[in-house]
Amino acid sequence: MACPAMESAAATALRSVLSRGHMAAERSGRSREQVRIVAVSKTKSVSVIHQAYEAGHRVFGENYVQELVEKAPQLPADIEWHFIGNLQSNKVKALLGGVPNLDMVETVDDEKIANHLDRAVANLGRKPLKVLVQVNTSGEESKYGVEPSGCVELAKHVKLRCPSLIFSGLMTIGMLDYSSTPENFKTLRNCRTEVCEALGIPEEQCELSMGMSADFEQAIEMGSTNVRIGSTIFGPREYPKKDKVSEPKSSSS
Ligand SMILES: *Cc1c(COP(=O)(O)O)cnc(C)c1O
Repeated sequence: MACPAMESAAATALRSVLSRGHMAAERSGRSREQVRIVAVSKTKSVSVIHQAYEAGHRVFGENYVQELVEKAPQLPADIEWHFIGNLQSNKVKALLGGVPNLDMVETVDDEKIANHLDRAVANLGRKPLKVLVQVNTSGEESKYGVEPSGCVELAKHVKLRCPSLIFSGLMTIGMLDYSSTPENFKTLRNCRTEVCEALGIPEEQCELSMGMSADFEQAIEMGSTNVRIGSTIFGPREYPKKDKVSEPKSSSS
């Protein structure tokens, strides 16, 4: 591991993603520190995640509660975990209890889940938890994320009614196949304008989580502050074949 020539594939890919991300940040007139790169490690083994950690990375994303709760205790405590999957109320306690170093939940998409998270954070005596409001910008299906027209109301709810949560911005996935379009990104930016006006906060205090493997440079150029990158760092996902686990919305976290 000390020898650069023997660097792991994940570390090499990570380095390339980081440098592409940094260049895109500069093209958008920002510094590299203003764009966070979340390494999405779902379906990847603890040892592969550890390779990226050894290469210096600290921010990782997972979208299944069960999987994260199993992996997190096997990995260093200074990892900042982002939860990026669809979160069910009955899994909130397991998530918060099992992952003390959970840094952010990116997928708050209704008041009910916000309230559950808020209560659970308070009950566990945890420090306030950063959350993003997930917006459905592709209009494809309404299950994941609030409609753009509902983003102000949900952001307000989190900011004003959930004292144990820190409203930190907006997130979008785009299409079901994980591709996004500039229109999706523009929609999220418009949501931010509305939310910031309604809440009276500067835009710098409202993150935009948009952009994945296929489109993260464009997303950064369009203002993303948080890109979520899986396959470009870790290779294609490895779902157990016999379980036919797939990524559609029906899969549970
Ligand atoms: C899996 C996943 C990603 C990463 O997708 P890649 O195309 O592999 O980079 C990003 N965001 C969310 C919400 C995901 O579930």
